[in-house]
Amino acid sequence: MGGTEQQYVQEAFDSNWIAPLGPNVSAFEHSLENYVGGDMFAAALSSGTAAIHLGLKILGVSRGDEVLCQSFTFSASANPIVYLGATPVFIDSETDTWNISPELLEKAIKDRLAKGKKPKAIIAVHLYGMPYKADEIRALSEKYDIPVLEDSAEALGSTYKGQKCGSLGDLSILSFNGNKIITTSGGGALLTRDQKQKEKAVFLATQARDEAPHYQHSEIGHNYRMSNVLAGIGRGQMEVLDERVAARRSNYAYYKDAFQDITDITFQKEHPDFYANRWLSCILTPSYQVREQIRLALAEQDIESRPLWKPMHLQPVFQDALHFSDGTSEKLFDTGLCLPSGSNLREEDLELVAYHVKKALV
Ligand SMILES: *Cc1c(COP(=O)(O)O)cnc(C)c1O
Repeated sequence: MGGTEQQYVQEAFDSNWIAPLGPNVSAFEHSLENYVGGDMFAAALSSGTAAIHLGLKILGVSRGDEVLCQSFTFSASANPIVYLGATPVFIDSETDTWNISPELLEKAIKDRLAKGKKPKAIIAVHLYGMPYKADEIRALSEKYDIPVLEDSAEALGSTYKGQKCGSLGDLSILSFNGNKIITTSGGGALLTRDQKQKEKAVFLATQARDEAPHYQHSEIGHNYRMSNVLAGIGRGQMEVLDERVAARRSNYAYYKDAFQDITDITFQKEHPDFYANRWLSCILTPSYQVREQIRLALAEQDIESRPLWKPMHLQPVFQDALHFSDGTSEKLFDTGLCLPSGSNLREEDLELVAYHVKKALV
């Protein structure tokens, strides 16, 4: 925590706004809108997953539809497709950004159109805080008239050509889960391009209650709004977001420098006009064996590291899903490792990690 969070939480207690609405919720939303820019409207919700669920609903995804989704991601990107009775079609990554491949995306769109199944939406993810190629994805979205839901859960603080991640999709989502760059312990937000969509999100997130003195519903709703207590934590966290990004980037810079002479270790590429928050510092090794050698050597020192996300098209739960893949994310999964990346790591911690990574390689 940064320090001022408790003050905002105290305000919630003092004013008795212990509810899924209140001054902290509104202030946190304004703070997100100011930060992300691009004239987005923010609706604070109970999780990033809830934000994706409502985002897809607002894009009109329903039973029987297909949604194109980056395969190399956390399952929360894809699960809401299934909540809606729709079907995910997974798209593999490209080797530089590790994010959705524009080539494979177009191939998938053409294939689905030829089969008379126009996809309802595209879910693109800024994995580990590295922006996806937003211009290329946007161009395909416009060419084929399929909206983009931008999963920016890991990328608050990242920018693409000077624009903040979270302002690049038709709709965008953020996550404030405990493991993210800033946190409300659990929480998320849906970012929309107009006020009406935000109102729709809030309506759906508060049980879809019609305007009436009694409780009346013409639609199925959800209980997805963020608590005013947790939004207080969010307000405080916004004050340290840029510090957190600097800390994560400094972890990355340390590892990059420490491994500069080791040709066996490579990193996720940041193009000149990209700016990644480096939520996690990840390395690629030459093989699964080397990756495991490093991971197990670190574990022996009580240093936790973890393989990269397992692609959705390789997950048992999605084994029957259609996918357009070329082996890229499978290889990333086999050979990649997330190194310790917390915002509070000290130089001696980083030194120790780098030392044991290098030692495991000789
Ligand atoms: C964390 C995460 C989510 C989901 O956010 P929650 O707030 O945990 O529900 C979605 N997508 C990606 C890529 C994530 O990392």
